[in-house]
Parts: sequence; structure tokens; C-alpha cells
Amino acid sequence: MQEEFTISTSKKQELIDITVKLNSIIKKSGIKNGICSVFAAHATAAIIINENYDPNICLDLLDALNKLVPSGIWRHDRIDGNADSHLKSAILGPSETMPIKNGRLDLGQWQAVQFCELDGPRSERKIIVTILGDKK
Ligand code: ZN
Repeated sequence: MQEEFTISTSKKQELIDITVKLNSIIKKSGIKNGICSVFAAHATAAIIINENYDPNICLDLLDALNKLVPSGIWRHDRIDGNADSHLKSAILGPSETMPIKNGRLDLGQWQAVQFCELDGPRSERKIIVTILGDKK
């Protein structure tokens, strides 16, 4: 089973929790046990699993990425000025795969699935969810 959804972003860089949305798609699929793949179809965005109970950890992640990959010093910046966004996207990666147990993502207590906007704001970011498994 595969489903796409879109989200809009409001900042240059931000992390958006999509865990609740993913669990609702899994529930609708009827899959009880299996795997869920989540894929961001963009070269300047990413999908990560991270803590989000303390909102500072999201800001810390963005700060760490910005220290690691400064903006404005790369060859691709001559094209459209967003090389750092592409590099951060490639470092984090476009997808995550997680286990499904009893009809829900089987995440650790402090884990959440987050969409990472790295070159926003954007009105439409596409996320593709693929669910495989057993219905009992
Ligand atoms: Zn570019």
C-alpha cells in the first residue's frame, strides 16, 4: 500500500513532526505488523527520526548542521544559491524505514519521525509512504 501527502512549510529551516500522520495512514491500511517506509521527494529536504519532546533538540540539530555546512561557499551556489540545503539533505537522507507492530509505528519512547525543511518556506512538499506487512 502506498500513499502520498503534502505539507507546507513556513520557515527557511524547520522540523515538522509527521508521526501522528504516519500512524493514521498505517491504521487506514489495516496492516498490523510489517514495515513503513517514508520518503521525502525533494533534494533540499530530509526525513529523520529524532527526539522532539524537548523542542531545543530540533533547534540544536539545525544549529549543528549549519555549523557543519555553512552557506554561500559552494560551487552550486552559482546556480541557485542553495548548495548548503542540498548538502544537508544528502547528509540526513531522504527516507527512513520503521517497524510496524500492532497497527502502529514501533518507535522508542523518545523517537518521533520528522520532516526536515532545509530550503523553505515551500507551499508543497511531497512525502511518499509505503507500507508492507500482514493484516493479522
Ligand atoms: Zn540548488
